Amino acid sequence: MEEKDTKDLDREEYEKICYICRRPESKAGTMISIQGNLCMCHDCMQKTFDSVLNNGMDFSQFQNLPYLNMNLNHLMNQNLPKMEIPKKQQIKKKSDKSEEPALDFKDIPAPHRIKEKLDQYVIGQEQAKKAISVAVYNHYKRVLTGEAKKEGEEEDDVQIEKSNILLIGPTGSGKTYLVKTLAGLLEVPLAIADATALTEAGYIGDDIESVVSKLLMAAENDVEKAERGIIFIDEIDKIAKKKNTNTRDVSGESVQQELLKLLEGSRVEVPVGSNQKNALTPMATVNTDNILFICGGAFPDLEDIIKERLRKKTSMGFQAELKDKYQDDPDILRYVTNGDLRMFGMIPEFLGRLPVVVSFCKLTRDVMVEILKRPKNAILKQYQKLLALDEVRLVFEEEALLWIAEEALKRETGARALRAIIEEFMLDIMYEVPKDPGIGTVVITRGYLEKNGGPRIEMRG
Ligand code: ADP
Repeated sequence: MEEKDTKDLDREEYEKICYICRRPESKAGTMISIQGNLCMCHDCMQKTFDSVLNNGMDFSQFQNLPYLNMNLNHLMNQNLPKMEIPKKQQIKKKSDKSEEPALDFKDIPAPHRIKEKLDQYVIGQEQAKKAISVAVYNHYKRVLTGEAKKEGEEEDDVQIEKSNILLIGPTGSGKTYLVKTLAGLLEVPLAIADATALTEAGYIGDDIESVVSKLLMAAENDVEKAERGIIFIDEIDKIAKKKNTNTRDVSGESVQQELLKLLEGSRVEVPVGSNQKNALTPMATVNTDNILFICGGAFPDLEDIIKERLRKKTSMGFQAELKDKYQDDPDILRYVTNGDLRMFGMIPEFLGRLPVVVSFCKLTRDVMVEILKRPKNAILKQYQKLLALDEVRLVFEEEALLWIAEEALKRETGARALRAIIEEFMLDIMYEVPKDPGIGTVVITRGYLEKNGGPRIEMRG
């Protein structure tokens, strides 16, 4: 009885799908339901009748359709569960128009509120957090005004353009982390894709639409939810136009070209619950108009391009003394212009669709120390919590934290190195400490990290 109830509920929530052509009912129209949860659309039913009338029915044509591969004599007493479409391939029905809007103006936090929340997780990168908070706020305002228009409430000629974002900054400086945190705060689905895996349609690799397919998965196949989500495309610098190539550039420029239509908003047909289109996967149409696209990349060599431009500008006349200033500026990326990015190999149309450009700074030693200690989910807090379960207090001397940060800087992978370094020495601590129930406190000292002795142990009582 219980089981039946949940199944009925699912049926109300998810669309019916034609077992022959695999289209959902929102596309194919009302379905004819057959016993055993089978559905068929009018078109396929008509085609079946037509073919029966013209030349009989040849079931061997359908041998690859698992749902038709059954003994029709047993249809009345089928064991039904096998007939269910896997949940990940079901498409959520569009919600009723009369329902409350899922997003309300009042619900979008103001930029300073977004930044305040981000501050709890992402350390430093003040300018980036500010720029992104504003861009996101504007994006969701645009989404809402767009919806208002659809319902014909208020028409005016001013169209707010999409504020897709380009993040530029060294590896491990928090680009992906910031986007993940943002999506979590806004409670919108997020898909993270890697530009290097994308290829032009027809080539080996993921085609461009696969990113939308991922987002739909993240939104649990709810098309409306996906249409308000965020897509983060990492390593975008890897699809820069290659210089001086004679061969066709399948992974670079042409991928940028294909991304254009997604970025500016278009309707794409994506397979549900799978990365591959084939006859058996149902398809859904997703409008990317309200999806926020964020692209990110490390853009190596971009610094040189910027410096070169600034050098040319400042080597003339009274600005000559500024030349050295730029040469040594660790955050030269903040001077980036569209011209620099074009020089790097991004095509102008592509840049045109990413109007908000945000640069991330290299993390300094002090910021690294803060990253260890301060975020809500800081690594140190995690280890302290683990040992607290054994009633052991874990303390890091300030000098030890500086050593970890210095070590991380040497590895040049940004904050990503911090966890790796800590894990290297915490393994021994986590192994040894539970052996002796008398241990009350473990103090990690710089000496211990430099391999001059063990950690300082304080016994209970
Ligand atoms: P990338 O810039 O290459 O996308 P990530 O965002 O993946 O770098 O950063 C790697 C990890 O380092 C994150 O998961 C996060 O834990 C940590 N991290 C990096 N930058 C920061 C930051 N500014 N504040 C807090 N944690 C950070």
